[in-house]
Parts: sequence; C-alpha cells; structure tokens
Amino acid sequence: FSFTDLGLDPRLLQAIAKQKFEKPTLVQRKAIPLALSGQDVLCKAKTGSGKTAAYVLPLLASILKKKQTTTTASTSALVLVPTRELADQIFKAIEQFASFCAKDIQAVKLTDKLTDAVQRSLLSNSPDIVISTPARAWHNVNSSALSLDNLICLVLDEADLMLSYGYDEDMKNLAKLVPKGVQTIMMSATLSAEVDALKEIFYRDPTLLDL
Ligand code: AMP
Repeated sequence: FSFTDLGLDPRLLQAIAKQKFEKPTLVQRKAIPLALSGQDVLCKAKTGSGKTAAYVLPLLASILKKKQTTTTASTSALVLVPTRELADQIFKAIEQFASFCAKDIQAVKLTDKLTDAVQRSLLSNSPDIVISTPARAWHNVNSSALSLDNLICLVLDEADLMLSYGYDEDMKNLAKLVPKGVQTIMMSATLSAEVDALKEIFYRDPTLLDL
C-alpha cells in the first residue's frame, strides 16, 4: 500500500516524494481514504504518528478539486489548534505539501503575536486555509474579517486539549457559524469526555478511527 494508491493529485504526490516519505504511516493509511471519501472522521492519533499529513493531504486534495470549478477566492478550510506552536508546525507542513501547487493554495496562520491589523490584512484576500486558535478565529469571524460561509472542511487538531485550554465559548460561537455540510476532521491523542463534548458542540457524529 503506497501513497500512489490513494488517488491523490499528482502535485501532492510530488511533494510527498520530495519529502522522502516512502510509505504512508498507519494513521495515514486509515484516515486518508476515509477523509477523501468526504466522511467526518475522529482519529485517535498522537504526535509523531504522521497525523498532520493524514488530514493535510485530503484537505489539500479537496481544495484543489474545488478550484477546478470555482474561481472566486474564499476560505475553504479552517484548522483549529490549541497552541501557537502547533499552528506553526501545521503551517510549515502545509507549505511543504503544497509546494507544487503554491500558486493555487494560500494558507495563513493567525496567532496572538500578530496585531489585529495584520490579521485583518492576512485575511483580506480570503486565503484557502486558515490555521488558528479558536480565540483568534472567533475574534476575526466576529469582526467580519473571516467568513466561514464557504468552508468545505473543518479540522480540530489536538481536539482533547481544546476545552481544557479554555476555548469552550470560542468553540460554541464558531460552531454556530460553521455551515451544516462541512466535513469535520478531529485529531486527538485521547478519546476523553472533552472530545465527546466537542462532538456535541459541533453536532457531529464522526467515524471513529481508534488506532
Ligand atoms: P506528525 O505526527 O504529523 O507530527 O508527524 C511526525 C513526523 O513524521 C513529521 O516530521 C513528518 O514529516 C514525519 N512523517 C509523516 N508521515 C511520514 C511518512 N509517511 N513517512 C516518513 N515520515 C513521515
């Protein structure tokens, strides 16, 4: 079972080859086909398992597909993370996986280190992917700098930490504005009560991958 069996866009396969990934990790083998089929997924995955590529690749594939039929710029994916460090890591991974389709895919990272004006200007071109903590995301949605109307994919990475880091209200506010049909991918090191609470907040009943 190799990356070429996954039916990914050739530009993504090129980027995978450039990073010298020889074969998919377990979480990638299980999660990528499921995510590509459009299902909501809750995946139990630790850091180091290859979990980032497991959702970034399907996410990029969906955006590239959407771009074949739409020319208007809009934010297609929102990746919510509990920490700035994780946001940095994901941003870098996206840059690498999108390196052969960089002109087609814009990603931005919102952190509390950036001024409001900088965040607004980053969002003004409706980037395809926004990586953010729930607090920054909600702040920008609330001020109309970020629209969730055209989302196709929502990712919650390190989902089990989200509520314990105090993002409950931001999550609830965001959940109200995420359109109904948006694919939701949750990555979590544990399957705790917090993860169940998030499923309720987002009204989702994802397919569970308990690896
Ligand atoms: P993650 O679990 O997403 O934090 O990834 C951990 C590390 O594994 C990162 O440095 C990735 O670049 C690397 N990695 C992810 N998938 C693969 C793969 N299929 N083959 C080799 N390395 C990988």
